[in-house]
Amino acid sequence: MGQEGMGYNNGKGGGGGGGGLPMTAPRPRGASPLSSHGHHHRSRKIHRTFNNVKITVLCGLVTILVLRGTIGLNLSLPNQPTDADALAGGKAVEDIDRILREIRSDGGADDDAAAAGDLAGSFNATALNATEAAAAYASAVERYALGPKISDWDGQRRRWLRQNPGFPSTVAGGKPRILLVTGSQPGPCDNPLGDHYLLKTTKNKIDYCRLHGIEIVHNLAHLDTELAGYWAKLPLLRRLMLSHPEVEWIWWMDSDALFTDMAFELPLSRYQDRNLIIHGYQDLLFEKHSWIALNTGSFLFRNCQWSLDLLDAWAPMGPKGFIRDEAGKILTANLKGRPAFEADDQSALIYLLLSQKEKWMNKVFIENSYYLHGFWAGLVDKYEEMMENHHPGLGDERWPFVTHFVGCKPCGSYGDYPVERCLRSMERAFNFADNQVLRLYGFAHKGLESPKIKRVRNQTTKPIDDKENLDVKAKISTTS
Ligand code: UDP
Ligand code: MN
Repeated sequence: MGQEGMGYNNGKGGGGGGGGLPMTAPRPRGASPLSSHGHHHRSRKIHRTFNNVKITVLCGLVTILVLRGTIGLNLSLPNQPTDADALAGGKAVEDIDRILREIRSDGGADDDAAAAGDLAGSFNATALNATEAAAAYASAVERYALGPKISDWDGQRRRWLRQNPGFPSTVAGGKPRILLVTGSQPGPCDNPLGDHYLLKTTKNKIDYCRLHGIEIVHNLAHLDTELAGYWAKLPLLRRLMLSHPEVEWIWWMDSDALFTDMAFELPLSRYQDRNLIIHGYQDLLFEKHSWIALNTGSFLFRNCQWSLDLLDAWAPMGPKGFIRDEAGKILTANLKGRPAFEADDQSALIYLLLSQKEKWMNKVFIENSYYLHGFWAGLVDKYEEMMENHHPGLGDERWPFVTHFVGCKPCGSYGDYPVERCLRSMERAFNFADNQVLRLYGFAHKGLESPKIKRVRNQTTKPIDDKENLDVKAKISTTS
């Protein structure tokens, strides 16, 4: 199978696009708030917040004036707002404004400064020479931990499972219990359409999980303020493993990834002696040392001691500020194709597996026989063709299991691709998947770019017969 066809271009950054072009000048998937990129971003954000505040205060004033005007003209009428009501109205406006301001501000600047201060000790990062920086980095990394060291999780978990037979680690049909975990930033998206697509990608995941007996968590909190952004998944996965000993596999999926094959199921029996399942390419990893050799947008951990240990070994490059910036330099120096930016979780995992191959690789399964992660740009324009020639349940380039919108940043404002192209493509992926769900109820979208639906099956007085004849793996008719 051609490597391009199997999503070689699953870059974090833009530039490459589809069509097998090399990744030219990919852009960072997110820069540190301390870097110039971040400054730019932050000052724009502050500017925007300031403008919002100005507008809101203005609106508040107008509201009060209007209310006062109304009262002035209609003093004799009952049921008109009193002065107290008007004040309460103004107060409500203020309250709404305050709440919006609070959820919009990510509290980043102060936290960043504190984190950098804490972890780099009293050093001023910019004043360090290379040796001092390396030493400061090493000691800061040493001091960082995801939580108290746990060393006998397998035993603890086994005991718990024995004592709680009502919560077995398998579900109906003897399948291992799976928990799908996703998450998004605690506040609203920069662009309201981003929130709309967060809802759609979450609905898509709920559908897949419901159809396959998988549990689901959507997290909005930063459990560890040091590990915000794309690092947030690490403390979260650890916490969920420990809180849910009944879960056998914990499956992280980015918010910007959609299930596009509603019939495909993970071939879990293939992974019996493995603890980490991740999409990628062995040769890109060990021969090319490529920063896109693996993709951390969709992967599974077995709930076991090994996974806790891997998370511990993976996390130290994550604390934002000084550590993340310094680690970014190490990653860029060692990974092929990586632009200069702060450490990201994906590069850090690749670097860990490269530098400690013997220690970890015998329990890692690098999957590419189907799209556990599929880079969107090469897939979204082929959905009609797929519907013409294939059917759900295949999971590979004929009918991709997952379509992941790497680099699109639908919730932020600085993606690597034009936002219209991203949103249109996400709409297509959502509807392509939703057709597989709606078909079960006798409906389909009018087109892949339309939220509107049409009936594709006549109603019947024998719905059970209809249901029995439905096969999620059946071809999706494009004409009826
Ligand atoms: N994320 C999160 N909390 C945050 C920010 C991000 O859980 O505060 C998650 C979210 O699911 C997102 C993922 O981190 O999809 C990784 O970031 P992104 O998808 O933007 O990176 P890319 O796939 O473009 O490299
Ligand atoms: Mn993503």
